[in-house]
Amino acid sequence: MDRLAEYVRGKYSTLLARVSLPGIDPLSEQAHDVARLLNLSLLAAPVVLAFVVEFATFSIWQLAVSLTLAGTVMMASPWIYKKTRSLPIARESFLASLFAFKLFESIFLASITSPGSIWFVALPIVAMLLGSVISGLCWLAISTAGFFLMHGLYGSGAGMAGYLSADMSFLYTFSLVVLGVSVTAFVFIVEASRKHALLRLQEANDVIRELAIRDPLTGIFNRRHISERMEHAERRAVTGAGPFHICLIDLDRFKQINDTFGHAVGDIVLQTVATSIQAEVRGEDCFGRYGGEEFILLLTGSDGFRPEALAERIRQRVADLRFADAGGPEGVTVSIGIAAFCNGEGFSSTVSRADRALYAAKASGRNRVVSAAEAKTACFAAHSGTASSSVNATSACL
Ligand code: GH3
Ligand code: MG
Ligand code: MG
Repeated sequence: MDRLAEYVRGKYSTLLARVSLPGIDPLSEQAHDVARLLNLSLLAAPVVLAFVVEFATFSIWQLAVSLTLAGTVMMASPWIYKKTRSLPIARESFLASLFAFKLFESIFLASITSPGSIWFVALPIVAMLLGSVISGLCWLAISTAGFFLMHGLYGSGAGMAGYLSADMSFLYTFSLVVLGVSVTAFVFIVEASRKHALLRLQEANDVIRELAIRDPLTGIFNRRHISERMEHAERRAVTGAGPFHICLIDLDRFKQINDTFGHAVGDIVLQTVATSIQAEVRGEDCFGRYGGEEFILLLTGSDGFRPEALAERIRQRVADLRFADAGGPEGVTVSIGIAAFCNGEGFSSTVSRADRALYAAKASGRNRVVSAAEAKTACFAAHSGTASSSVNATSACL
C-alpha cells in the first residue's frame, strides 16, 4: 500500500513538474494555484467519464458529445496554463467549459431541477479555490443568473419540473441561490485564512533567508554568502563577463582596543567601521565580514576600474571615524590587501593573494593599501634589488 502511495506521489510530482513553469518558487501562491488546477482537472476526469458513459448508455448523444468536448478543455486546463503562461486563462477555460455544458444540459432537460443547474453552485467555489476572489464573485453572479434563467424558462412546470407547483419551484430556485452564496462565502473564508497563513510563512522564510546571509553583529553579509558571490563572480570572469577584485580589510591592533576599552566597545567599533565601509561601496559590489575583525570586499568593476582608489577612500574614511564619545579610542585604522582575479586560478587563490598583500601592508607599518602586484614586486625587489615600479600583468597573478 505504501509502495502504491509512493508510486502515485512520484507520478503526481512528475506531472506537476511538467505543467509548472520553470523558475517559480514552489512555496509561492502561484505554485499552489497550479497544483490545485491540476488536482481539479484530475478529479474532473473520472466524473466526466462516468457521465459520458451514462449519457451514452441512455443514447443521449447530444449530452455525451457536448460533455466530451467540455471535459477535454477542463482536463487540458493545466496545459493551457503551461502554453499561455496565464493562470486566469487556464482557470476561466475550465470554468467556462463546465458552465457551458451545464447550461446546455439544463436547457436540454428543460428544468431548474435538472442535475445541470445544481452544478452552477460549483462554479464560484472552484473559481475561489483556484485563487481568484473576483472570478469567484463573477461566477456567483453568472450562476445566480443561470438559476433565474432556468426558473424563468421552466419554473412553472415544464420538463422535469413538471410535477412542481410554481411556488415550490421558486423556493427550490431560492434555496439553490442561498446555497450558492453560503458555500461561496465558506470557501472564501477558508481560502482567506489559508492565504494569510501562507503569506506569514513566506515572510518567515524571507527572514530566515536574510538571517542566513547576514553577520549578526554588523548586519553586513557573512562569509558564506560572500563565498557564494565569489564563486559566482569567478564563473562570470571565466566566461569573459568581467573581471573582479578582492579586498581584505583588517582593523589594526584591534586586540589592544578590546584589551584597553573592553569587548563591548570593540563591538561598537566593529559595527561602526562596517557601516562606514558599507556606505562607501557601490551597489554592485559585495561587502561582508570575513571573520573576527577582518572584512572582505568583492569588487566587480569593468576593465578600467581602479580598486586601489576605492580602497584608499575606505582607508581614509575609517581613519576619520571617532570613538571617544562611545568610551573608545580616539580613532582606528585599517590595512587593506587587494588582488585581481586571474583566469586559471580559483577565487580562493585570489583571496590568498589578497591576504598576502594585507600581510605586506601590516608588515610595512599598517594603515595602508597594498595590492598583490605591489606586494609581489616589493618582495622581489627586496630579494633582488630591482625597482618596485615595474609590475606587469604576470607578476600581478603570482
Ligand atoms: P593586527 O594589526 O596585526 O591585525 O592586530 P590585531 O590586534 O588587530 O589582530 P589579532 O588577530 O591579534 O587580534 C584580533 C582581535 O579581534 C582578537 C579578538 O578578540 C578580536 N575580535 C574578533 N572578533 C571580535 C568580535 O566579534 N568582537 C570583538 N569585540 N572583538 C573581536
Ligand atoms: Mg587586526
Ligand atoms: Mg585579523
